[in-house]
Amino acid sequence: MGTSKWVPTVCYQCKAECSILARVEDGKVKEIRGNPKSHGKVCVKGMSGPATQYNSDRLLYPLKRVGKRGEGKFERISWDEALDTITKKLKELKNRGEAHKLTASFFPHSITDPKWRFLNAYGGFINTALPHCDSAKIVAFLRTVGGVPNHHIPPAWFTMPKGGIMILAGRHAFGGLDNAAVPRDILDAKERGAKLVVLDPIFTPDAAKADQWIPIKPGGDTAFFLGMTQHIIAKNLYNKEFVDNWVRDGDFAKLKKWIADKTPEAMSKICGVEPAVIKKLAVECAKAPAVGVDSFKGIMLGQALDWGHAWNIFLAVTGNYDNPGGQPLPELTPMAPVAPGPGGPDLHELGFHRTGPNRTVFDKYGFIMEPTWYEAQAIRDDSLKVLITSECNPALTEMGQSGWQEAVTMKDSKGKYKLELLVSIELMHSETSKFADIVLPDKSYFERWELLYMPWWYNFGHGIALRQPVVEAPGECRHSNEVFIELGKRLAPEYFKFKDDLEYYDTQLAGLGLSVKKLQDMGGLWSPGTMGFYKYRAGGFGTPSKKVHLHWEDLAGAPAYQDWPRPGTAPEYEENVKEFPFILLSYRSIYHTGSGQWSHNNPHLRDSVSGMHENHLLINTATARKLGIADGDLVMVEAPNGGKVRIAARLSEGIRPDCVGMHHGFGSTIGRVATQGKGVSDNLLVPDAGATLQWQDVVAGEAHVSTRVRIGK
Ligand code: SF4
Repeated sequence: MGTSKWVPTVCYQCKAECSILARVEDGKVKEIRGNPKSHGKVCVKGMSGPATQYNSDRLLYPLKRVGKRGEGKFERISWDEALDTITKKLKELKNRGEAHKLTASFFPHSITDPKWRFLNAYGGFINTALPHCDSAKIVAFLRTVGGVPNHHIPPAWFTMPKGGIMILAGRHAFGGLDNAAVPRDILDAKERGAKLVVLDPIFTPDAAKADQWIPIKPGGDTAFFLGMTQHIIAKNLYNKEFVDNWVRDGDFAKLKKWIADKTPEAMSKICGVEPAVIKKLAVECAKAPAVGVDSFKGIMLGQALDWGHAWNIFLAVTGNYDNPGGQPLPELTPMAPVAPGPGGPDLHELGFHRTGPNRTVFDKYGFIMEPTWYEAQAIRDDSLKVLITSECNPALTEMGQSGWQEAVTMKDSKGKYKLELLVSIELMHSETSKFADIVLPDKSYFERWELLYMPWWYNFGHGIALRQPVVEAPGECRHSNEVFIELGKRLAPEYFKFKDDLEYYDTQLAGLGLSVKKLQDMGGLWSPGTMGFYKYRAGGFGTPSKKVHLHWEDLAGAPAYQDWPRPGTAPEYEENVKEFPFILLSYRSIYHTGSGQWSHNNPHLRDSVSGMHENHLLINTATARKLGIADGDLVMVEAPNGGKVRIAARLSEGIRPDCVGMHHGFGSTIGRVATQGKGVSDNLLVPDAGATLQWQDVVAGEAHVSTRVRIGK
């Protein structure tokens, strides 16, 4: 047996980015564990990291397309040829005065991400998957408390006191994107005497562990929380100390008046939960020493900004901001800036709205629209000419996938592709890279440097984590950050005077008196060593008044009418009820949570015995009986957008009778492992953002992940 050592780094099998230890033996990654220094854990996806690392589908060399877009025919080229091709096109675009027609679609691991710097320096812009997740949550928190909780970060469950209440509202903490330590911390808190309540139309693994499962109607969470808040105020059980001192003057009186008719009885009709259940939990929450709520956009879809607003009002009325077990607020780490810092283009000034190419329609939107849909629209109207994707897969795993595939293959009157260049930087071929003109082989998270900086990190408070190479990259792989830095040196050298990514990170770390080397010697983690509770007591909240803003008066008029949260579910749930009687819930599990080919094409996660190699249509047993559907029957699922899929039924008591469920992320046509499993893509049914614009949040740009469907044998 050769040398074996444990090296600290950061997982990227999903976007939670947990601190891990990798056991390296004879230059190979053999085993993964959670990093005890950040009281970490690792989930099954994280443990399957070596299977991603040594996947035989790994891309090893740059490729250029030789067939038509989508045919998947490529030939090997050199890095010089690949970078020269991209540089030439980007120079041409800039010379035409169209730098803003570059979009890069990627997950910004950190606000220090050099990819983002390149876009600002060059004049293009970032397109992320945020609208799928939590753009509404971010906007709601910004408006109410003036700060953004990191979107993947739940309350610090390990600080939940005895008697506290943990509410998971449509959040699959035991099988989703939350940190791998979360399930253990929730169960430990339960051991200490805290209560777990799960609001979900599906009996999830979280619900199985819960003290109380509330099978709420999808989208009913706003009404549910408004009903609880009304009851707490009506019974005079609100946190007077917090409200008197920390809610903006006049806001509570306005709330009291507005919410008077949002009684549990009235809200019950919307959310489908008995008034007595709403009242009982309301009283328990008001009396509990702490209440923590974890959610993204609420339960499945619809009016996500309203949900974020109702959630914040509930937190304020119960005084659960920045307290142990409650809602953490961000704190900034004093990183040093890398000067000069590029400001980024004023796309609005250019007449090109950040949220979409059609300014007249989208001027009202304050956040990023659903990215796949946006890209398709922008290509169609010639507002997007160069697209670079990295660690994202719009051709398969985002709603509107068909529209995207159609748009990237559209040609102009001269027979040329309207999208002039499509670059995909990936670990292995994906549905998206099949359409690319240039495919670049990325380094895995075991092979690259990355400085991860977040205002809040679940494991150790706000802080910094170092992702470091633990093994050599195969072939000619280069990390996407290295690619963007190289493009920056070629196209905007004044902003890329540093030597490489390590020098860039060193400069930033100097703000903390650190360097990459010092951080590495410290075990790759830095945090202030405190959770920093009640930060608002020294200097107030981040809002203009320094207090919590319950009323959003600027949204009082048209077109928003969202100065208070609208309790109703999305119109999408209320229309087409007769023709399409079921609500399709798209969900994720511990095996596949993200959209990356690296987990969908991972043999351990796709294993038919110990993993998940096909998705089913989850359908309530009683509903199935009425429809004459037996377990395993093939059924046809059809949606109002014309999409239809054939899929095997899986009968279960653990889903509402008016809902059906489908696991997200199947349907790949590429990848040795991914194509062996069965299953279909839910996004063939879910409409893209453009189809439901009139129903979407006006200022949060929420993307939908659900729809109404009908089922036939
Ligand atoms: S939740 Fe699992 S897959 Fe995601 S980063 Fe953590 S250990 Fe890795």
